[in-house]
Amino acid sequence: CGIVGYIGKREAYPIIINGLKRLEYRGYDSAGIALFDGTDIQLSKTKGKVVDLEARAEKEITMKGNLGIGHTRWATHGVPNDVNSHPHYSNSGDLVIIHNGIIENYASIKKELQNRGYTFKSDTDTEVLVNLIEEVKKKENVKLGKAVQIALNGVVGAYAIAVFDRNKPDEIVVAKLGSPLAIGIGDDEFFIASDASPFIEFTNNAIYLEDEELAIVRLGRDVKVRKIKNDKLV
Ligand code: GLU
Repeated sequence: CGIVGYIGKREAYPIIINGLKRLEYRGYDSAGIALFDGTDIQLSKTKGKVVDLEARAEKEITMKGNLGIGHTRWATHGVPNDVNSHPHYSNSGDLVIIHNGIIENYASIKKELQNRGYTFKSDTDTEVLVNLIEEVKKKENVKLGKAVQIALNGVVGAYAIAVFDRNKPDEIVVAKLGSPLAIGIGDDEFFIASDASPFIEFTNNAIYLEDEELAIVRLGRDVKVRKIKNDKLV
């Protein structure tokens, strides 16, 4: 299981696909990618290998994007199939997430969200998390980073996540507890990955998040790292 992300001037697609190939050694049953060009989001995902994803994405991804996230899944909640593969959208279609790990208390959160009208396409704990973030964002009227921070304070489990918001084309928010997460810093470009292998050819300047840390990765400024639990909210 692995995660890869990119935001910058380059075309994200080949960086994500090649990055996912480098993370194949971690083991997985499905793979997926989401691309964002500042207006549209395109998503392609499938049970199987990264080569299967490439075959599918060749038809489904028709645009270029400078922001992308990619995932290899090792299923824990929901069988390995196309729908349960990551990335996952929130109900509004504004938020897109990839996640390695387990949200242990997803069932009670899911029930609460369903009571508020949320619906779910997959059986994953991950789709619950992205909708929890969306609900917090709306209810508290906060930006993505703060919504992620508040949401994760209500979560029991382990995670490395990367999430972006259609309304914020220059930003990816990441967080870590248990699963690894590295951020590569280039020249006004950023790489996100489970380990440095997907971005080692582009930069050797990297931050490795500690457990219970969250980072806001935004073009044009330094990476902002915060404690999920103790820091003042981002
Ligand atoms: N728990 C998530 C799922 O089953 C993520 C699994 C993983 O680490 O890849 O979809």
